[in-house]
Amino acid sequence: MQFHMQEAMSKRLRTNVDEQLDVGGLFKGRQDVYRTGPLHVSLRIAGHEGFVEADGELSIDLELACSRCLEPVREHVVIPFSEKFKPAAADIESDEYTEEELSEFIEVDADKLDLKPYMEEAVQLYMPYAPLCSADCSGLCPNCGQNLNEHSCGCDTAKVDVRFAALKDLFKE
Ligand SMILES: [Zn+2]
Ligand SMILES: [Zn+2]
Repeated sequence: MQFHMQEAMSKRLRTNVDEQLDVGGLFKGRQDVYRTGPLHVSLRIAGHEGFVEADGELSIDLELACSRCLEPVREHVVIPFSEKFKPAAADIESDEYTEEELSEFIEVDADKLDLKPYMEEAVQLYMPYAPLCSADCSGLCPNCGQNLNEHSCGCDTAKVDVRFAALKDLFKE
């Protein structure tokens, strides 16, 4: 997914990218990510005077560990992607964009624009935080590790919470 900046800008490139990208390497070593599907990329690429625009959507199917009980949770994550890239050396003179908008343009050093690292960054930003198998997941017993969604273990968990019980009393007043 590489584009030549100068060529895309001068020819006013208009193209659609519909591809699947393997991003499994992003999650290597992460024990909370059980499985990752390919990243579905659906972008419109447009060359303009002075910059190249990529706009569209990324999506990915993930199998993650429930943050309470570690059972697999399937998530379909849709990631909006909209970035503008400009050659680092060039200044854009435009009435169309405010200073602030221009400051959000991503500067590209070489003529070759590779979208992959930007898409990988977006995926990481949109990773679900603390996924749950269900909103009322009971989690694992802190004492014996039994999955409490399956059955209770009979541990006297009141004992485990002794330290916190004192805290609770503190906040009662
Ligand atoms: Zn769970
Ligand atoms: Zn237990």
